[in-house]
Amino acid sequence: MTQQQTVYLNGDYMPLEDAKVSVLDRGFIYGDGVYEVVPVYGGKPFRWAYHLARLTRSLAKVQIANPKTDEQWTALVTDLIARHPWNDQFVYMQVTRGVAKREHLFPKNVTPTVFAMTSEFAPLPAELLSKGIAVVTLPDERWLNCDIKSVSLLGNVLARQAAADASATECLMFRDGLLTEGSSSNIWIVRGGKVFAPKRDRRILEGIRVGLMEELCQASGVELEFRNISRKEVFAAEEILVTSATKEVVPATKLDGEPVGDGKPGEVFKKLHAAYQQAKADARNA
Ligand code: PMP
Repeated sequence: MTQQQTVYLNGDYMPLEDAKVSVLDRGFIYGDGVYEVVPVYGGKPFRWAYHLARLTRSLAKVQIANPKTDEQWTALVTDLIARHPWNDQFVYMQVTRGVAKREHLFPKNVTPTVFAMTSEFAPLPAELLSKGIAVVTLPDERWLNCDIKSVSLLGNVLARQAAADASATECLMFRDGLLTEGSSSNIWIVRGGKVFAPKRDRRILEGIRVGLMEELCQASGVELEFRNISRKEVFAAEEILVTSATKEVVPATKLDGEPVGDGKPGEVFKKLHAAYQQAKADARNA
């Protein structure tokens, strides 16, 4: 077992097993809350300002008053990271509307529940990068506010399980015939050496890696366009890439059991993966 995890709950630090919330917490009863997952490299939260901005946006969209200032959030995350020995971590932060009598309407005068924990960010298995992952297509059956990083993840959980049941690591979801995203990642396709990604609207969560990929494409001389992507185009892709805080950027080399392109991680993936590693190295040394 690795070092004991210390977590933050409502102003206090404590061992993970001592952290308890009421069964009336609206996160438990309604999934009424939002969250963030922040990678940490060399003890420093990566793209922190973007994660904090997205947390602020998510809170505003579900009308939970932000319980902390930016400075307080930064102090919390810095403190939590410092309490653990790992160079690379990922921090999980969650805010729910708080504890109140069960009633759909927003309760008055409740204090949001704030929880944060961190885990070791182990290097991705080399096979993931050298062989790529298998993905399967699924209908996107989630609600229409996927831009909110809500803890109500039942649709995502069911999709991920369906992918695993089909021996795949992730799914590619489609709404009205158009690519949206994975169960917990953003999806990119490559055609003619150019990268395409779905438009950033409420059908998807705008990953913090989305802005990063934009920068990496630019730095690597790779063209990128955000637009609607049909099922047909996905099946004609030379490469498919999957991004998230914990997967960084990985190639999908099998789609519904068939090889993507030549079935091997492609050149665009290799370029962007190298650029990603450089961005991490720069962040560590900053
Ligand atoms: N879409 C969904 C549904 C996700 O859960 C995630 C992972 N948080 C992403 C996209 C990727 O976002 P990020 O790059 O911020 O990890």
